[in-house]
Parts: sequence; C-alpha cells; structure tokens
Amino acid sequence: MSETSTERMAKIVSLCKRRGFVYPSSEIYGGLNSCYDYGPLGFVLKQTVKDRWMKSMIQENDNIEPLDSSILMHPKIWEASGHIANFSDPMVDCKTCKGRFRADHLDKATCGLKPSKTPLTCGGELTEARSFNLMFKTFMGPLEDQSAVVFLRPETAQGIYVNFLNVMTTARQKIPFGIAQIGKAFRNEITPGNFIFRTREFEQMEMQYFVKPGTDEKEFDRLKEVRRQWHISNGLKESKLRFHAHGPKELAHYARAALDIEYEYPFGWQEIEGIHNRTDFDLKNHEKFSGKKLSVFDEETKSSYVPFIVETSAGCDRTVLTLLVDAYNEEVVTGEDEGPRVVLKFSPQIAPIKASIFPLMKKDGLPERAEKIFESLRKHWRVEQDVSGSIGKRYRRADEIGVPFAITVDTTPDTVTIRERDSMKQVRVSESEIVDYVRKHLEV
Ligand code: ATP
Repeated sequence: MSETSTERMAKIVSLCKRRGFVYPSSEIYGGLNSCYDYGPLGFVLKQTVKDRWMKSMIQENDNIEPLDSSILMHPKIWEASGHIANFSDPMVDCKTCKGRFRADHLDKATCGLKPSKTPLTCGGELTEARSFNLMFKTFMGPLEDQSAVVFLRPETAQGIYVNFLNVMTTARQKIPFGIAQIGKAFRNEITPGNFIFRTREFEQMEMQYFVKPGTDEKEFDRLKEVRRQWHISNGLKESKLRFHAHGPKELAHYARAALDIEYEYPFGWQEIEGIHNRTDFDLKNHEKFSGKKLSVFDEETKSSYVPFIVETSAGCDRTVLTLLVDAYNEEVVTGEDEGPRVVLKFSPQIAPIKASIFPLMKKDGLPERAEKIFESLRKHWRVEQDVSGSIGKRYRRADEIGVPFAITVDTTPDTVTIRERDSMKQVRVSESEIVDYVRKHLEV
C-alpha cells in the first residue's frame, strides 16, 4: 500500500525531532500551536540557507545592499502599505465539525470529522466568509490604548521601502539597485499547518529591486529565473519546481504581476517563493502618508520619478522544509551493510555536517589519528566524530542527518576510507589529502 502524504510528513517531523532539526515550541507545556524551535542541526541548516541567500544577493551583485530593519515600526506604515485595510483572509466556520478554514483554501483543507474529505465535499454546512486581518497587534509603552497600538510586521518589505533613500544615498547606489533583508515576520494565520510550512511566526528572505518604470517587466522575467536557479543550486530537484502565475483574482492589492515558485510537497504543489511586480504602489503611498519625497532624479530626462519595485520574497522556514522533504529517502541496502536506511540526500553544500570521522576501534592509536583529522577538518567546516557502536550503525546515524562523507580510520597506516553517502562507495585516501578531497567534493 502506498504511503499517504500525512504518513510521509509524520516521518519527516519525527526525524526532525529525533535528530535535533526542529522541535515543537514550548513542548514541556504541551506545545504552542504552529510554533517551532530549531535544534542544533536545524539551526545550522537554516543559517546555511540564510548565508547562501545573502551571498547570492550581496556578494554576487554589485548593486544589491543588505539591511536589517526593526520589527516594530511606525503604525502609519501599515496604513500606507494597505495592510490595515486589506491584509486579510476570508474565514469560514463549519457548523457541523466546528472547524475554521480559509475560504480560498477549502480544496486543500481537511474536514475535522471526515479526514479523507475536504470541507467542500464532507456535506457540512459552512458559514458566510468573514474577513480576518492577519496582523498581530500589541502596545508600545505602559498604556494599552489605541494611540499605543503597534503591529508585528507581517512582511519585512516595508522596512526596506521606508529606508530606500537612506540606503541609496549612503551606499551611493543608482537605479536599478536592490535591498536584501532577512528577518522575522508574523501572521495570525487562520489555518497554520503542514509543520513549518505555514506558521504564525516565520522568517522571510526578501529582496526589493528598485527599477525605472518601463523596465519592470523585463526585470520581473529575469528575476524569476534567477530565483528558480537559486533553489536548484541548493540541490532541489528541478522536476519538483514550477512557476505558477497569478490570475487577476489571485493578485494581491499591491501587485501588477505575481508569480509563485512552487514545489511539489507530499501535500501537493505549493508556493515556496513569490515574485511580485509591486509597481510604484508602496513608495507612492509612503510619500502620501509620510509627506516625504521618495523620488529619484533621472539625469537622462532631467526629471524625477518614483521607482517601480520588483520583489522576490522567499520563506526561510519553508525553504528549510523543502530541503528536508526533497532530501528524505528510504532505501533498502543490500550486500555488506544490509538493511533499511533513512538518508537525507542534502547537497554537500547544504548538509549541516560535512563529514563524520569514525575510528574503527578505541585502541591502536586510532582515536588519536581520528582526533588529528577532526582538528584539521573543523578549521574549515562543521564536522563530527562518532566513536560508539558498529561502523554500520555509525553510517546509519550519519546518513539520517545527511552527512555527505564518512571517514573511517582503520589500522592501515596513513590512509583512511571515505564513504560517499548516496552511492555508499568507499575510496581510500591518504590522510594528508582529506581536506583537499572534501573541499573538491563540496565545490561540485
Ligand atoms: P499564502 O498565499 O501561502 O498565504 P502569500 O502569498 O501570502 O502566501 P507572501 O506574502 O508572498 O505569501 O510571502 C512570501 C513568502 O513568505 C512565501 O512564499 C512563503 O515562503 C513565506 N511565507 C508566507 N507566509 C508564511 C507562513 N505563514 N509561514 C511560513 N512561511 C510563510
């Protein structure tokens, strides 16, 4: 019988907990719905994703600058951006199972009483759709009155827009240029779920590209492919990625064009990143609400204009989930190392731990040689030593967390065996060449 998407996700969630990628938040208190904590391996994986994203933006482009703006911002920003008026999802309740659902996601939801059905097909009676604003509210200072209301940002983008002139002038940039930012965002989602796919607190990796009106469509087309390639460069299977262009009804209030990069998760095709042509909507509104000019002077035409913005907005947690889902494999090994294995086939660049070093025995100088190899590798990458259990068990442990290279130190002097995770092939490498071997294979 083939595995259901729920079963597959349950296995991934369990591996994440067992091996220290992701834990439920506040677990000893029974957890907090849709909040998660990243454990030692999850932290490194997520950090790797963020580093690769930021590098692909600011190190590989002369005209993209980094920013780290605050989460709490002037409440007028959310009026100007349209979030107070428009950042809501339609919500319905089922009178039969008492479930609460997003009216625009009913086909992806599960009935509370009949899990094999959706709220559309289960026969339950739904209420009229009501609009539900997704922004979290809190108060700044000791008084809890209307004048003290501030919001937890639902996207990092607005912090970029209000700093657009600051960055342009201090970094001496000219249009076209971009601002890249990674940071937390908060949305009071009606139906969070699918593990870290949809949560109420999450991190975004957003790049806002400021362009001259008229060049926006070309940049939109260029950036969508740049972003698809980035996901492929992380090792995601190309066949599991596709574009989904938004039709007029799906377009957000600020967008002229929008396109999702989708991945085929066990629970279906879903967005991993959005590319949006936001026109001059945001900057013009910030001009209107702040009273400050946000235009640039065009030397060619000797006139001023408000730039258009093309946005690339990826979820960091969602990227981590995608990498885990894409890497997860169950195999049956035949021959010497017989038996089932779970293996995370991360690309070596993504793997949180690059190599595991196994001294075959705790004697004959093997632990000392292993220690020396460990010291030489840890200068460059995060690596681990595993000294307990049979070699077969140690391979299984390393496979389960996606370590690409397992280095066994045996009694043959001056050489080790390196076993490659996916092919399970072993090669004998001279001890003095291990660092070069790993480096060469990490660069592929
Ligand atoms: P959806 O339609 O799924 O609610 P969206 O179109 O509102 O998503 P965007 O506003 O375009 O999403 O956000 C950009 C990216 O931020 C998304 O592609 C996703 O990766 C990530 N993201 C958005 N909401 C969440 C969430 N609740 N939890 C985790 N990541 C999220």
